[in-house]
Amino acid sequence: MIENRIAELKRPSEEFPRRYLASGLTVEAWDDVSEYYNELEKRELNSASDVEVWISDGSELSAFLSEESSRRYIAMTCATEDESAERAYMKFVEEIAPRMKEAQDRLNRKLVQSPWASALPPKYEVYLRSSRNAVELFREENVPIETEIEKLSQQYQKVFGSMTVQWQGNEITIPRALALLEETDRGVREQAYKLVAERRLKDKDVLEDIFDEMVAKRHEIALNAGFENYRDYKFREYERFDYTPQDCASYHTAVADLVVPVMREAAAERQEALGVETLRPWDMECDPFGREPLHPFGSANELIAGCSKIFSRLDEDLGREFDKMTELGLLDLSSRKGKAPGGYQSDLAEVRLPFIFMNAVGTNDDVFTLLHEGGHAFHNFAVRDEPIHAYRHAPMEFSEVASMSMELLAMPMLDEFYAVPDQARTIRHELQGKIALLAWIATIDAFQHWVYTHPRHSREERKMHWRGLVERFGSGADHSGFEDARDYRWHAQLHIFEVPFYYIEYGIAQLGAFQIWSLARENPAEALRNYKHGLSLGGSRPLPKLYQAAGIKLDFSSEMIAPLMAKVRDEMAKQGRLESM
Ligand SMILES: [Zn+2]
Repeated sequence: MIENRIAELKRPSEEFPRRYLASGLTVEAWDDVSEYYNELEKRELNSASDVEVWISDGSELSAFLSEESSRRYIAMTCATEDESAERAYMKFVEEIAPRMKEAQDRLNRKLVQSPWASALPPKYEVYLRSSRNAVELFREENVPIETEIEKLSQQYQKVFGSMTVQWQGNEITIPRALALLEETDRGVREQAYKLVAERRLKDKDVLEDIFDEMVAKRHEIALNAGFENYRDYKFREYERFDYTPQDCASYHTAVADLVVPVMREAAAERQEALGVETLRPWDMECDPFGREPLHPFGSANELIAGCSKIFSRLDEDLGREFDKMTELGLLDLSSRKGKAPGGYQSDLAEVRLPFIFMNAVGTNDDVFTLLHEGGHAFHNFAVRDEPIHAYRHAPMEFSEVASMSMELLAMPMLDEFYAVPDQARTIRHELQGKIALLAWIATIDAFQHWVYTHPRHSREERKMHWRGLVERFGSGADHSGFEDARDYRWHAQLHIFEVPFYYIEYGIAQLGAFQIWSLARENPAEALRNYKHGLSLGGSRPLPKLYQAAGIKLDFSSEMIAPLMAKVRDEMAKQGRLESM
């Protein structure tokens, strides 16, 4: 039984009718839309306003195709056993998406080469910057190398995804085994940790081989595109125009100086609460007081009702928007057989509505997942009236501010799910998790900076460099007897293999979210006003301007982070007192 009612949602909607595409247009194959791309490519542009109309028409086309892709993806993930849904999605990925990319490259070139581009009004600045960048970076000789890397990525997924361990006579997956690290019995945790570590190390050499090849190929791509190293190339490819590798190094330093001490303080408290001699790597996930996991709700409807109240208490508009999602069937929340794992927020770009997918089973994590994805959904609502499709998405460094802030802003209203001691317990737990995440992001990011600026490093050097980073950013758990597990822990971080350098965004956004939360502690109404204002700009401004609009700063310096960490520390202590009352 599929919970969502997306199939009933009519497109195009009366709210956002088509102006360029035929109103009855649907897409089965590339040929259904190729004439539109051809027309755009050939159209004569004789003035700046011609270019504006041309961008708007292209925008309608890309929103139409984006929604097609989202609908197929949603249908597939909501019914994994429906083979026709999978075929439909794969057809889009394999037959339509690559042609779209090629066609889009031709349109980018046309725009960049048009003498009228520079006469466009200022609101097109970000749009033009992005088109120029894409054109400048494109190298035909890199296309086959990208494909080879894609194959290596698939190998990585295969090796990593097929790992299992034997647990009490049953074969279980690694994620299932890792869930045992939350058990209150220390012996169970140790055994689970050992099994996972041993299993992963079995494939250590295969993974090292894959990674060596990836590094070499990526370095080649960078050289082909005229860069000194892959890091600098990747910064440009990700459109990181507003911060530099040097800024990331400042983030690393600030985290080591200001975040790691707070994390280690929490680790020391954990050790005391657990009553153990030394903290081992299998002691980090369980409840330190040996309590059972929280169970904040039963059915998905209870989860929806609780979050609806939270959003409405925060802000009437947000409450209404969330309720509209419920009414229109834009939520598919409960875990059931035949549903893909995980959670995500997607958007239907043509009707301009968000959709939330997750696998709720009644845990505290589920509540935070819905709050997080809710923040993404509010971002979508905030930009509905923006005509340019590309501007209806913010860059990750800001879109995650929308979602991560919502987790923090909602904390005082978690009484919708919990009595006071449990509310305090969950707030403290979440804040500790966010602190640990900031440190882990620094570890992963610093590692990749080193790897790609030293493309000819040896495996031994790589191992030693990683070890140094664990010492610098780790919680200080005692790994004796498990040195290899520690030294190759990065093998489990799929981003390093599959989406290199894509990770610091979460750290940047978390700092932005902490800034919004910090203001909310003093003045919740103002913080929320800022939040909504920042969201309303979508991706129409450069990153620092988006931050500014939300009343916060894109800044990773110690001066900015120190007072924030003092407040987080203070809040954790306060919640700790409430928790034990
Ligand atoms: Zn997110």
